[in-house]
Amino acid sequence: MANRNFTLGIEQARTLDQQDILSKFKDRFYPLSGNKIYMDGNSLGLASKDAEQALLKVMEVWKNEGILIWNADNGHYFNYGKNLGARVGKLLNAEANEVMITANTTLNIHQAIATFWKPTKERYKILVDDLNFPTDRYAIDSQIALKGMCIDEVIKIVSSQDGVFIDEQAVIEAMTEDVAVILLPSVLYRSSQLLDMERLTKEAHKRDIYIGFDLCHSIGAVAHDFKTVQPDFAIWCNYKYLSAGPGSTAGIYINQKHFDKQVGLAGWFGNKDETQFQLKHQFDQALDITAYQTGTPNIFSMAPLEGVMNIYEEAGMANVRAKSLNLTAYMMYLIEERLGVYGYSYNNETEDSKRGGHVALVHDEAYRICLALKQHNIIPDYREPNVIRLAPIALYNSYEEVYKLIDALELIGKNQEWNNFSNERAIVI
Ligand SMILES: *Cc1c(COP(=O)(O)O)cnc(C)c1O
Repeated sequence: MANRNFTLGIEQARTLDQQDILSKFKDRFYPLSGNKIYMDGNSLGLASKDAEQALLKVMEVWKNEGILIWNADNGHYFNYGKNLGARVGKLLNAEANEVMITANTTLNIHQAIATFWKPTKERYKILVDDLNFPTDRYAIDSQIALKGMCIDEVIKIVSSQDGVFIDEQAVIEAMTEDVAVILLPSVLYRSSQLLDMERLTKEAHKRDIYIGFDLCHSIGAVAHDFKTVQPDFAIWCNYKYLSAGPGSTAGIYINQKHFDKQVGLAGWFGNKDETQFQLKHQFDQALDITAYQTGTPNIFSMAPLEGVMNIYEEAGMANVRAKSLNLTAYMMYLIEERLGVYGYSYNNETEDSKRGGHVALVHDEAYRICLALKQHNIIPDYREPNVIRLAPIALYNSYEEVYKLIDALELIGKNQEWNNFSNERAIVI
């Protein structure tokens, strides 16, 4: 961990907040009722005034224009997925034409696999890790089943040695001649490990393997440089760090060198604009990112993203990343200094270049500690069996909130407050 000269007093938290060039953005977001401290922005980001305004604006246009909403603003809403994609693409340093906002993450995985995975006798395997979020596997497995192939024969798994981190060297060694496609997370959702996408992509391409990344836990937290990384594809949701609202429309990146590929899942919004409304039964595929859209854009699930992109463009992705790293470093420092005696530790990457946007706090009583934290007016995020994910979000969390979180965790430890709660699981915790 970079040496940041942290100290134990609350004064430092206050000084860091005063010096924070992003602190003004906190007011652009709505505080939770009861002024709770929110540490779960990596699952669902908070609502912002900008997101709300963009949503209300769409409502106005619909009210006033009816069907003409599609023509309004020079076809802005007709091309909403592409227009928003160009803005989100800046966070990835992708080309403006390589990103589409469409569907959901899971469907975009289906889309990417259906497009890139063309199994032959010699090259048919799909390489994955065993720590990724399950929906990624469900989507891949069902693509395999759809081709009438055997999942166990097609899937090649790189297993984590410790159940926490993925060894990049092991991934590279698994890139054998029979591998056709690789899908990996950019940041692991539990341990916050940020994989070296550039290295992995280079190694995959040396072996003529397509490689794509699931950016769900990095987009909006980590500044990517896809012009350098050059992956073949990527997919992500926009409701976590990016704060575009529950179930907001997702994103897909396709490297422009693949725009001549036949898209796996076609629909009329993937047709060339010029011939779309001729309504012919012959699909005339657009030869750009448009092809990756299937049906009519979900305008209401996209508008909040337009609002929140204003915030990101004003704040600057590099500043967001720098503050995020400092917040998590500060949190780890306080955990080490104050919480170890109560059985807490963290199990995430400590090096800046390998860490995403959250800290994975570990405790045997993690589940009941989450319940106790809620009583302290703090919203954490629990992951079985013993991890509390804590994500201080650069755009709306402060150093003082991190400090208060540590205060609460210390009290809970000192008084063993978990004994006041049952271990029975709720649906969403
Ligand atoms: C959050 C998340 C998803 C979510 O998929 P949806 O289709 O948006 O529900 C998928 N993959 C990963 C790695 C995630 O973290």
